[in-house]
Amino acid sequence: MPPDGAVSARPVLVVHGGAGAWAPELAPDAGAGIRAALRAGWQALDGGGSALDAVEAAVAAMEDDETFNAGRGSCLTSDGRVQMDALIMDGATLEAGAAACVAQVRNPIRLARAILRQGRHVLFAGPDADRLAQSFGMELCANEELITERQRQRWREALTGGQDTVGAVAVDATGNVASATSTGGMHGKAPGRVGDAPLVGCGGYADNQAGAVSATGWGEAIMRLMLAGWTADRMRDGASPQRAAELAIDHVARRLNGSGGIIAVNAAGGFGAAKNTPAMPWGMKSPDEEFVQEL
Ligand code: ASP
Repeated sequence: MPPDGAVSARPVLVVHGGAGAWAPELAPDAGAGIRAALRAGWQALDGGGSALDAVEAAVAAMEDDETFNAGRGSCLTSDGRVQMDALIMDGATLEAGAAACVAQVRNPIRLARAILRQGRHVLFAGPDADRLAQSFGMELCANEELITERQRQRWREALTGGQDTVGAVAVDATGNVASATSTGGMHGKAPGRVGDAPLVGCGGYADNQAGAVSATGWGEAIMRLMLAGWTADRMRDGASPQRAAELAIDHVARRLNGSGGIIAVNAAGGFGAAKNTPAMPWGMKSPDEEFVQEL
């Protein structure tokens, strides 16, 4: 019997590469990155892995891709450094793992997964979180290794604003859902700033009884509205993932004049995506369907 009495579902994986004002010339790279993330996540699901394995693999693939604002290629703080946030959550158990303001880890989502696995605490921040990664056997890197020329250029131009958090949500064949989100945050953010991404119920949420959600966009608005949890609650009340995602974007726009994007799945294999930014690369895969929106 699947957990929580959920019906056996068709597996579905949905990934996004961040809601924002994407330069049109990045469309092919964004599309390729979304396809690679779908492949990585699907390989995990297909090989008998859980929804949790799938979202971790999909997000790690996008962290490794410099096109996206996560892992190497993250945007820079006002003083020119990379500080990253990540969260992973298991809808079967409500276990979560998160890292905030990490600066020496190539794959913050893998650190988040290790924190979830350890189970004692949910969220670690700053240099102690980097050291924790090392104690889990992850190799640390210099902060400069995470900085790309494209982001250095944006920093020189003193660009501010949001762009390109990555996220994934999935349901596996047993009806378990999971969510993962990872980001370098907002361009030109103040050093030490933590966004919505690593906060349970803000940048992500997963509960088999509702669904799984990953959010992207203006973090200060998303966290004030606890947007991922708000979206999950709409699904808990019976809204489809697509309807819930649309309601959430409407909510953030009306309530705080906020902008962003949402992806969602439920335990029955339904999925949805919505945004009110100019672009949000995203894609979905199920046994009989694959769809990619490049920007
Ligand atoms: N939500 C992210 C943050 O505020 C940024 C983004 O998704 O563009 O850190």
